[in-house]
Amino acid sequence: MWPLTPPSRSARDVYRECISNARPDNRAILDLYEDSVAQASDTYNQACRGQELHTLNAAAFRPPYPPLTDEAAEQHADLLENVYTQRLVGENGPGRHIYNELRASAHRCPLCGVGRVTTLDHHLPKTKYQYLAVTPTNLLPACADCNKKKASTAPGTAAEQTLHPYFDNIDKDIWLTATVIEDIPCTLQFAVTPPTHWPPELIRRVEGHFLAFGLGELYALQASDELVGLNHHFIALAGQGPETLTAYLAEIADSHAAVRRNHWQTATYRALERSTWFCTGGFIPAARP
Ligand SMILES: [Zn+2]
Repeated sequence: MWPLTPPSRSARDVYRECISNARPDNRAILDLYEDSVAQASDTYNQACRGQELHTLNAAAFRPPYPPLTDEAAEQHADLLENVYTQRLVGENGPGRHIYNELRASAHRCPLCGVGRVTTLDHHLPKTKYQYLAVTPTNLLPACADCNKKKASTAPGTAAEQTLHPYFDNIDKDIWLTATVIEDIPCTLQFAVTPPTHWPPELIRRVEGHFLAFGLGELYALQASDELVGLNHHFIALAGQGPETLTAYLAEIADSHAAVRRNHWQTATYRALERSTWFCTGGFIPAARP
């Protein structure tokens, strides 16, 4: 949802570093897959750029059953998954510094824009795409909530491709807006409101992302907390006239928009600024008789 600069390390280099201290019998097997990992990562990056992840055949991203027996393929798949869990994530793994570096590339989760980054999320799950287990562009810094919501899902259609922070940058346009719910206490409802020039597929992807990560509920909660905390301030400004409150809200909206056009705070203050009901004090509880 929020763009990040893609990692500069290559999948091959990361893979080699991770397997560097594997014991000889495992190393012999893992060495066999170095080219497969590098090629699979190139294919994946290309599909990300073309927004075609749903067209990838998962079977081409894991050890092949022929020519291997089922049992051997299973063992090799486990070894490849462990390159991530033990060798990249493990505290003493040779790739741990790379894990730390990737995780530290964002403080706020790029999938929701709210949560604190605590983990790396596989954009395509390592359980189905073992060759991408340590591919840097497949590892997204994420908050625990988004990581949990995404689970081990992979897109089956173009519309099911959630946004990819390393490849999708839609922040040039305003697509997130809020509506003021005229009630006391005042709340806001958030929605994806794409510009008319967006292709239908992109609209469905953004709407799908919004739904998959529960962003409507998350932003409504954030906005409610913000309004509660500033309620007294808003009442004081409304007391000076609707123009004063409107100007204040517009200034805050502009300030947020200068940093992030589609942040929940930008949408919140823009909606409040444009609400005659809010700016004329509709949010203020009537004094008790
Ligand atoms: Zn998140």
